[in-house]
Amino acid sequence: MKIVADRTVCEGHGMCEALAPDMFRIGDDGIVAPRPATVAASDRELLELVVDSCPVQALRLT
Ligand code: SF4
Repeated sequence: MKIVADRTVCEGHGMCEALAPDMFRIGDDGIVAPRPATVAASDRELLELVVDSCPVQALRLT
């Protein structure tokens, strides 16, 4: 499972970093940088919450 972030859509609101700081970091440019790119299936529930919480729908799971 992977986190895909559309950096052209992200507005740096920081909801993702607040909810899952181990997996999201807002970079110096104010835009999200997911890490790591591949995540464990056991994190799916948390990640679905994060994806749903992004105010500009910049995140998705594949
Ligand atoms: S919640 Fe969405 S808009 Fe905010 S930093 Fe994360 S990806 Fe970007």
